Amino acid sequence: MQVLELLAVGAVQGVGFRPLVYRIAHRLGLGGAVWNEPGGVRIRLVGPARRVEEFGAYLRAECRFPARLDQLRVLSVSEADAAEPFRIADSMSGGAPAALVMPDLATCPACLRELFDVRSRRYRHPFINCTHCGPRYSIVTGIPYDRALTTMHGFEMCAECRAEYENPEDRRFHAQPIACPACGPTAELWDVNGARLGARDWAVRAAVQHIRAGQIVAVKGIGGFHLMCDARNDAAIRELRRRKRRDEKPFAVMAPDIGWVRILAEAGDAEVNLLCSSAAPIVLLRKRPGEWIAGSVAPDNPYVGLMLPYAPLHHLLLRELECPVVATSGNLSDEPICIDEREAVERLDGIADFFLVHNRPIARPQDDSIAHFIDGRVCLLRRARGYAPLALPLPFETPPLLALGAHLKNTIALAWHDRVVVSQHHGDLDTLEARRAFERAVDDLPALFGVPPQHWVVDRHPDYASTLYARDRDLDPIAVQHHHAHIAAVVAEHDIEGPVLGVAWDGTGLGDDGTIWGGEFLRVYPGGFLRVGRLSGFRLPGGDGAMRKPLQSAFGALAACVRERLRELAERLLGMDAEAIDACSAMIASGTNAPFTSSAGRWFDAVSALCGVCRESTYEGQAAQRLEYACDLSARAMHFPFETRGDEGLVVFDLAPLVRTLLEEIECQTAVGELAMRFHLTMAEIIVRMADAHRGLPVVLGGGCFQNRILLQACIRRLREGGHAVYWPEQAPPNDGAISLGQAAVAAYHLTQTIGIRHAGQ
Ligand code: ZN
Ligand code: ZN
Ligand code: FE
Repeated sequence: MQVLELLAVGAVQGVGFRPLVYRIAHRLGLGGAVWNEPGGVRIRLVGPARRVEEFGAYLRAECRFPARLDQLRVLSVSEADAAEPFRIADSMSGGAPAALVMPDLATCPACLRELFDVRSRRYRHPFINCTHCGPRYSIVTGIPYDRALTTMHGFEMCAECRAEYENPEDRRFHAQPIACPACGPTAELWDVNGARLGARDWAVRAAVQHIRAGQIVAVKGIGGFHLMCDARNDAAIRELRRRKRRDEKPFAVMAPDIGWVRILAEAGDAEVNLLCSSAAPIVLLRKRPGEWIAGSVAPDNPYVGLMLPYAPLHHLLLRELECPVVATSGNLSDEPICIDEREAVERLDGIADFFLVHNRPIARPQDDSIAHFIDGRVCLLRRARGYAPLALPLPFETPPLLALGAHLKNTIALAWHDRVVVSQHHGDLDTLEARRAFERAVDDLPALFGVPPQHWVVDRHPDYASTLYARDRDLDPIAVQHHHAHIAAVVAEHDIEGPVLGVAWDGTGLGDDGTIWGGEFLRVYPGGFLRVGRLSGFRLPGGDGAMRKPLQSAFGALAACVRERLRELAERLLGMDAEAIDACSAMIASGTNAPFTSSAGRWFDAVSALCGVCRESTYEGQAAQRLEYACDLSARAMHFPFETRGDEGLVVFDLAPLVRTLLEEIECQTAVGELAMRFHLTMAEIIVRMADAHRGLPVVLGGGCFQNRILLQACIRRLREGGHAVYWPEQAPPNDGAISLGQAAVAAYHLTQTIGIRHAGQ
């Protein structure tokens, strides 16, 4: 008899992989064993040589999502006399970690049927799951993935659950979070003081009544708390905005089912498939006309972010409510999502009227992921629940490193071997809560994968909380320039070889010359970059404080382009009083608190304010977003004039002619929709010009500006027409959520080459 030792690598733990191995081995009459190891799933087969060989073919053929078999390595071949019956053995620890921790998976159709089947012993049990669905990353405390290393370890299985858990023929065979009403977690409804009002089905039904009555209920889900209210109830939504201090930023909506999605928005097959996928992200869809949900959900916005119920508790709520609910992260604006019920009662004090909680602990916060479709492809705008912590491949081997990301929309990334894992989203590190979440992740991510970092990577900005973290601990980090990281992230996910023309357009990032970059053209080659062009810029009065003040950008742009008419235009177009004009002029003249910026994001702000589309914004990127939504898509495809000039080897696209023409058009009362459209086309035209000058290089678009669909789609279309290869962010977001990935890719390359490592402060 032959003995074959195999190692299965990929998404193989917590996805019903061992039962699959067991079933195939049984069918082929093989002896041996299968067990989880940190490095993957180990398989020992004993039997006739022919049968042993057939095994691999069957395994590959029958491996189904969510499991994914990347590699089946043969570790050894030997001979034995007899075969013991095939069994599933206990997990082993130690060895090189390579197994993937699975993301959280939305409730599968089989579990959903049982949830509403009165004959099922899990009828209306809010914690139903199986090997195809349920929580994973949000409950895992270590690998290998076994119940003892999840937050379910405190719940002892009842006899019936244990029988299912141990039966290889059962859908719940080795489903680690297995639970039932007799032995699993329980839901409770709490009042604002955290006092228990009731439990189990009563709690769920009471929460439904409160939502119907217009109240705001905090609901503990998979990766944290949502704040939920009736999406049709304008007063409730306005009250939620007031309490959450969130003026206009759109709220996500959870729709009861696909029928509702089609009523609310335009959704084709691809959109529906994504909504129904096990990742179950929020998908941005074009609203359909109608008054099905209140306008205050997403004011002045042609899109609505929709998701479907993805936890059994959501299904129970929505099935009974029969209406869409606002489902926004349970937090104050810009803070990370709450995960603990006691913490929620404190942090959501004054926001929620009731708390629908449960006692299955959440190991780490997971916001909902956000996606939209560009050119028929899924692009993630926030990579979180359902995607984290799936690894992305790196094209080379790297020593273990941890990249600490940017300051806004922070994520961190752990790279080792040939892979990189990007963490969940931590929010803006300005808040103490976000910094705490960041610090916990810095400890948690390497510990979870058993990979202590040997190198640390940060942004070159010395004052980012993430940079300070590394500096305060003397970690001697490698520093990567912000826009280089944006482009490197896209290069890494598309595995592009050789040099590219990177178009890094975002709101802000510290440039190598000490100015604020953000409208940059970078020739990016493996491990380095050369700045080859930029947008013309201006001094931004108010500096960092002006990032959310489009008026200040407009003033700076006017001062740079039409200085002679500054005072008059600032008064008339921007509605500024003499005092404000003097203050801004003084800042620009002296240069104090008025850094020079070439940021494309600030140009969008400036034009948005000049056109009167948005002078005051309540959240980052709002002015640019309003300008995008103002676009008249049928407007003449004519761009504004601009000039190009050379400046020390840099091509500078001078936007002064654009501003002057824009002002003339505003005088002539040209429709705002046309001006907005022409501005977008001008920005795309600039990118095409640069691409033409660097013909042969693939064009890589990165940075928060490419969340703008009109800009991105215009660039893709025009670049393709011009014969250029074009890439944009898909797996990781265009915004700063991708900075950690880019940092990891750049540093990994340097460490691999062991040349030119540039450390912060050198
Ligand atoms: Zn299931
Ligand atoms: Zn049970
Ligand atoms: Fe950025």
